[in-house]
Amino acid sequence: MRYISTRGQAPALSFEDVVLTGLASDGGLYVPETVPRFSREELAEMAGLSYAEIAFRVMKPFVNGEIDDETFRRLVTEAYATFSHDAVVPLNQLDANHFLLELFHGPTLAFKDVALQLLGRILDHFLKKRGERAVIMGATSGDTGSAAIEGCRHCDNLDIFILHPHNRVSEVQRRQMTSVLADNVFNIAIEGNFDDAQAMVKASFADQGFLDGTRLVAVNSINWARIMAQIVYYVAAGVALGAPHRQVSFCVPSANFGNVFAGFMAYRMGLPVERFVIATNANDILHRTLADNDFSKKELVATLAPSMDIVVSSNFERLLFEAYDRDGAAVAALLERFQAEPAALADAPLAKLREMFASHSVDDATILEVIREAHHRTQEILDPHTATGYRAAERERGDEAVPMITLATAHPAKFAEAVVKAGFPGVPLPPHMDDLLEREERYSVLPAELAAVQQFVAENRR
Ligand SMILES: *Cc1c(COP(=O)(O)O)cnc(C)c1O
Repeated sequence: MRYISTRGQAPALSFEDVVLTGLASDGGLYVPETVPRFSREELAEMAGLSYAEIAFRVMKPFVNGEIDDETFRRLVTEAYATFSHDAVVPLNQLDANHFLLELFHGPTLAFKDVALQLLGRILDHFLKKRGERAVIMGATSGDTGSAAIEGCRHCDNLDIFILHPHNRVSEVQRRQMTSVLADNVFNIAIEGNFDDAQAMVKASFADQGFLDGTRLVAVNSINWARIMAQIVYYVAAGVALGAPHRQVSFCVPSANFGNVFAGFMAYRMGLPVERFVIATNANDILHRTLADNDFSKKELVATLAPSMDIVVSSNFERLLFEAYDRDGAAVAALLERFQAEPAALADAPLAKLREMFASHSVDDATILEVIREAHHRTQEILDPHTATGYRAAERERGDEAVPMITLATAHPAKFAEAVVKAGFPGVPLPPHMDDLLEREERYSVLPAELAAVQQFVAENRR
């Protein structure tokens, strides 16, 4: 199994190289050259297996023997042992045929733990084997930073530097990052906004001279291993609800499109999926593209579901590559146009996407209404991201006989502001975190200057 770029001009890479490389050299994203396919028998056999065993089977073809089976099984088992629920990602039945797939039982209470607990371990394994060290740099406005830190805190061969905008992330989100006191974890509060932080990370990847040859690794969702790890829970949920003998549908609260693209991969691997419903907040580029063929940027809106606040969906490129029959030149041309001006998809690829994907956009007022309504009907308190999914699933569901699985992407305690705005007294943090607000914190405040940040990274890496 090799990996190729969505823009067709970069060299094909092995799994190991694709995990250690971010963007392809032609600006594209890496995808597997061929999609492995499970037979009905292989899928049927997965029902009833542990999450870690399903994860091993689903990911094995992508790893391509580059990690031996015994080691890979150990990495997977260790990654999912950090989750506080024995089922790792339990299914919770809401009503007649609507289920929540709870992806928030990991260390930082959002679904990003599922991929980052494994990615940290895979990176550390490859670096150890190569006798190399690497530096991770990332900018975060919330969930990714803490999940990446938790995923790397025990990695001997990695140092991680996470930039967040000073005084502009919630206290729970900041403390989830800054209370990790491991020697290889560095939190940098930038005196600026998220865009300043992200621009400095991008500039550092573009010119890595300040690290004197040490590799810089990206852990954002352009890293293929994150998508790979997310395919697993679609398969696990599908077989738990009767696949391959029954179809299922999924509704996914979406932003950069990494999560729902993983679902699409599960479908291509043989999981019988009736449809995917894409839920967005007011930052609705995915909905506008699918519903109106309006593939254009719109100004960022700060919403009650902040982890879905985006202007551009980076992983949508991976789906476009499939919709354009893997024509890298066509994808490159479309994205070039999109960068400069409002663009539109060609008729045939758009029609193909509409066969599998529906979409719905949910504004802040509706998020609050949904949190109240869902509680009234089901006794569950949804986090604001999951609330967009709950509404979209109800509005866009196809055949009522097909189970609808809405992905619960965060624990409501992590986004208590919206829950309180909806009229509830709040949600307690789970027991393993109830002292979060008393824990010691460590972080450095730096000006929004590239030279200062790079000097800090160069001096502190081990
Ligand atoms: C990151 C995130 C999302 C969006 O996921 P994508 O893979 O970027 O589409 C949704 N909800 C929560 C809580 C998140 O942290």
